Amino acid sequence: MSDCLFCKIARKEIPSAIVYEDDTLVAFKDISPQAPVHILIIPKAHCEGLGDLNPETAAAAARVTQVAARIAADHGVEASGWRLLSNCGPDSGQTVYHLHFHLLGGKPLGGRLCL
Ligand code: 5GP
Ligand code: ZN
Repeated sequence: MSDCLFCKIARKEIPSAIVYEDDTLVAFKDISPQAPVHILIIPKAHCEGLGDLNPETAAAAARVTQVAARIAADHGVEASGWRLLSNCGPDSGQTVYHLHFHLLGGKPLGGRLCL
């Protein structure tokens, strides 16, 4: 999608700190990290979020779980633990409407999943 921030990051039209890339996924550091490790993993193909999957983006989303474990290991949080989450829609706090998964780790993340 021409106007989408994360499509532009995936196409490298906007700079980002990319930590992983393959044919269908790209992962980069969050610009405003909420933990020592805060990486966003996105499918290169545009979809708005988990409520908007098509076969291509669903397949990419399924692969995110495997890639997340590899990225977590690469960033030294394999043993200490990490969290993978995706916000979907206004009540979740989603601000960028291109599907993305937050990989968070590097400190105790707390037990609460919502306020
Ligand atoms: P959401 O709130 O939609 O779940 O998460 C969007 C995330 O994207 C936020 O954590 C925010 O810091 C991050 N973000 C927003 N704009 C940019 C950007 O231009 N570059 C990078 N690397 N991250 C961004
Ligand atoms: Zn997009």
